[in-house]
Amino acid sequence: MRIIRTRDELKVLDSLRQRGDLVFVPTMGALHSGHFSLVETALDLGPVVVSIFVNPTQFGPGEDFDRYPRDLQADLDLLAPLGVDAVFAPEAGQLYDADDQVTVAPGRFAEGLCGAGRPGHFAGVLTIVAKLFNLVRPEIAVFGRKDAQQFLAIAEMVRSLAFPVRLIDAPTVREADGLAMSSRNRYLSNEERKRALVLSSALSAAHGLLADGERDTDAVEVAMRSLLSSVDRLEYVEIHALPTYARPNRIQGRTLLAIAARVGATRLIDNLVLNVASASVNECSLLEDD
Ligand code: AMP
Repeated sequence: MRIIRTRDELKVLDSLRQRGDLVFVPTMGALHSGHFSLVETALDLGPVVVSIFVNPTQFGPGEDFDRYPRDLQADLDLLAPLGVDAVFAPEAGQLYDADDQVTVAPGRFAEGLCGAGRPGHFAGVLTIVAKLFNLVRPEIAVFGRKDAQQFLAIAEMVRSLAFPVRLIDAPTVREADGLAMSSRNRYLSNEERKRALVLSSALSAAHGLLADGERDTDAVEVAMRSLLSSVDRLEYVEIHALPTYARPNRIQGRTLLAIAARVGATRLIDNLVLNVASASVNECSLLEDD
């Protein structure tokens, strides 16, 4: 596994390109099984580069940038046995310059959901992803459906700015009891960890209601909210039709159900992407043609 710390060293990726489509998995480290599932998906497609970089520009004032968990050696020890070909783990100075003048303005997918409570977050995400795409030049990039809004915003950037990269959204990996895996779960106390389960339970309940034939958006939202009373602050429960991203009156076709809440001081997000048909309601990709 090649460890790449500088832009110049990225030249070593040229030897990987000869082996097939280069597959890129961007992360902020503090790796867990959610990240490993993206890596497994990537390894089936070609030589794999994982990046580890805690991107300062996607954190707002008062957010957890300073205390975000960082342990590069532990992450490298976890990635090596998986068969990852290269890890790009740059210092911030390799990616940002005090003179940088241009950022990526996110489109409509930065509105609503996390966009409301985290101003500037998606501009930060898209700008770093654009830089990483330009430096790594992957044919394919794998992201998690767990960050559904991030994926939609990146897919819109790739389409609008004609990045020559194919995107894949890998399903959310959960703990056995349903909690979506997240690097931030390690902030939770035992008591908070138990209460955090209501996010995934509320989504499962919504899935159950839809499977039983409920199609009214308000009814599904109200049911989810009522199950979320034990969180410390409910930031949002939102339902969006895909690919339009509009709030539907009635739920039909590909639909994103998403929640953000604070449990203790920790901000957690979770979602389900469902294809709601008359005969069945199944999890599906955020991408239209999958
Ligand atoms: P992060 O390190 O949190 O920026 O995440 C890096 C990538 O891993 C993103 O594409 C995330 O969507 C993805 N990811 C994070 N948690 C999970 C999870 N539980 N299941 C699947 N993918 C995940």
